[in-house]
Amino acid sequence: MSELIDILSLFPEEAQRFLVENGEPKFREKQIFSWLMKGKSFDEMKNLPLALQKKLGERCLFTLPSVAEKQVSKMDGTVKYLFRLFDGACVESVLMHYSYGDTLCISSQVGCRMGCKFCASTLGGKERDLLPSEMLGQIVMAQADSGCHVSHVVMMGIGEPLDNYENVIRFLKLAAHPERLGLSPRRVSLSTCGIVPRIHDLAKEELPVTLSVSLHASSNQTRNQIMPINHKYPIEELLGACKAYFEETGRRISFEYTLLSGVNDSQETAQELGQVLRRGLGKMPIHVNLIRLNEVKERDFQRSGAERAKAFIDTLAKVGITATLRRRLGADVDAACGQLRSKTLKSTDDHGET
Ligand code: SAH
Repeated sequence: MSELIDILSLFPEEAQRFLVENGEPKFREKQIFSWLMKGKSFDEMKNLPLALQKKLGERCLFTLPSVAEKQVSKMDGTVKYLFRLFDGACVESVLMHYSYGDTLCISSQVGCRMGCKFCASTLGGKERDLLPSEMLGQIVMAQADSGCHVSHVVMMGIGEPLDNYENVIRFLKLAAHPERLGLSPRRVSLSTCGIVPRIHDLAKEELPVTLSVSLHASSNQTRNQIMPINHKYPIEELLGACKAYFEETGRRISFEYTLLSGVNDSQETAQELGQVLRRGLGKMPIHVNLIRLNEVKERDFQRSGAERAKAFIDTLAKVGITATLRRRLGADVDAACGQLRSKTLKSTDDHGET
């Protein structure tokens, strides 16, 4: 049997070519994708001949995920989805309502191999990369389920987007395509732990996404302890890539910094962070996004107190760096990346199911 085609990862011209090669007229592509973008399956495509519905079912992989579990915050309406993929693997997406629009946080891999010590997503390592269609599919299905229009996307769910580079780039281009979602890359934030060569590559893609860089430390000594990627790409190299990205694209970069009690949250550390950022980035505008840790049961780190966070912000301000504390949405759902997935994996293990 020939290999199944991942039709939802194809650009319109490619999908048309596939249809023509399979004896169908080109115009069917528009019809098929108008249904797919609404989250419908091949056998729900009412204006297609039954024979074509059947042919698509036989020759194409259906990669739109299904909702395996859903939690809605009673506090702010944040929706946490656990999506089941075509092979049974699960990933998470979070739909957040902001004044400027509805934002979806999506996953880019099943699991993660970066090994950050405070993160739940990386507990079981990486299972596989997500296909472009599976990243697109999270947006499509969140919209179909909620009735919301997703105007912004953040790639801050499970996985390291720059460790799945080709698929992520194709996803961003597909999402931007007017015949798919028409989602401008300017409305997408991509978060990375700092894979330096891929930051240089991204700068050349002409995809004006907002880059967020997970720093979480002011020295290589501390960063080495909490983020294994730092052994390969230490802070100076990472900041060098950030500077080059800014010079090439003119896009501001935001730095994520998760406060870990007693590890990286002292005022001396804030001061050191300010100096390191200035030294590495020169006059480039700098914004630090502070995150208070979502405690993960399997990990030892503790959340810093609110006063500690405030003192950290004030110290950074004194050295001319603006920092804001990320608002915590969905505090009553399992909103930390990877927590819902790892909980579900565990409960199926406990029950001895597959
Ligand atoms: N792989 C990407 C996306 C990860 S999730 C990256 O490393 O940037 C987005 C952000 O949440 C990252 O800055 C990540 O370090 C941070 N994060 C992960 N686990 C966290 C936790 N338990 N509490 C707070 N922030 C966390």
